[in-house]
Amino acid sequence: MPPLPTTSLNRSVRDRNAGALLRLLLREPMGRKELARRTGISLTTMTRLTAALLEAGVLEELPTRTIAGRGKGRPEIPLGIAPRGRLAVGVQIRGDRVTAAAYGLSGLRCAAAETPHHGSSPEQAVASAIGLAKELIDKVGPERVAGVGVSTGGVVDFESGTLLSSPQLGWSDVPLREPLAQALGLRVVMDTSVRSLAVSRLWSDPTAPDSMLVVFVAGIVTSALVLDRQLHRGRSATAGTVAHTPVADGPGQPCSCGAVDCLEVLASDRAVQRVAVREGWLPADSSWDDIYAGESQAARDGLARLRRDRAELLGRSVGRIADFLDPQETIVAGRLGTAAEARLCLDAVGANRPVRHWPVTDEDWDRGAASLLIDDYLTRPTCYEATLSI
Ligand SMILES: [Zn+2]
Repeated sequence: MPPLPTTSLNRSVRDRNAGALLRLLLREPMGRKELARRTGISLTTMTRLTAALLEAGVLEELPTRTIAGRGKGRPEIPLGIAPRGRLAVGVQIRGDRVTAAAYGLSGLRCAAAETPHHGSSPEQAVASAIGLAKELIDKVGPERVAGVGVSTGGVVDFESGTLLSSPQLGWSDVPLREPLAQALGLRVVMDTSVRSLAVSRLWSDPTAPDSMLVVFVAGIVTSALVLDRQLHRGRSATAGTVAHTPVADGPGQPCSCGAVDCLEVLASDRAVQRVAVREGWLPADSSWDDIYAGESQAARDGLARLRRDRAELLGRSVGRIADFLDPQETIVAGRLGTAAEARLCLDAVGANRPVRHWPVTDEDWDRGAASLLIDDYLTRPTCYEATLSI
């Protein structure tokens, strides 16, 4: 095998070193010597890297008293991530609107905007996303924006930046990344919304475990898997597709895939709504979001019963998936109803399994989209910071 070109080898070493120091500084401020000690990087290299990141405005020098670790002699000047030094813009394409928000590397939310796109074509939605991202980038200052993370539901090919299929939006094979990257002149990365949640957990919580399973339920059921702090996307981008996992002893409910009793047709909000309409607890023109309401007492009681059954069935299915994958943490994300209904679901996952509920907010989705970009930034900082390549 021919040797790697020196330049690309140097670049990958610089990416690894700069990524390691940035990840440490996301946890807490510290001085150059402490950074060198913890990363195993020589003090000379560390001094050069931090100088490049200080020059770029990514890092800042802090008052001496905030330093971590205790050395002998003259105290070191601690370094920290500048809260607004470098920003990531997150764009999420949802069923009814496009949202955008800018975050600093250390998690500071700087600005947000949204625009409706209900029922629009992929071209219109892309145009909306570009317009919204431009508006936000102009507002926060283009020179500080590292790039854009885009998230959406369905099956996304991270490598090509294409939305392969989206039952929610009714789209298939839509290139999303390239039109945005060209129009904005920035690096753009893209993945599914549920994967963005998993990445944001890794980025915003230094104590997050190395492996986790996130199962998201709403009108659909889908999941993301993190192994060794990396998303597992699979050979054909479809890793985490749990919608068509068969459920044993079901009622024989047909699924669009041709099978019966798939997880999604029994445990999604849409599945609960279908039964509620059949029972007369919700009108035929209701949305799956209505399963958390109900007009009459009888309807509210009926819906609560359906949600409890769903919570247990979902929990048992998540438990079987988690048994197979054995992650350090299992998360059931999305609305599950009352705290008691959520508890039913978590209890059904399994007694000895670390599991928690994540009721995802609009801000969580924004943070997720931005975290896709930040994950890429921390993996290959030389693609973003020209001063690191000198
Ligand atoms: Zn199916």
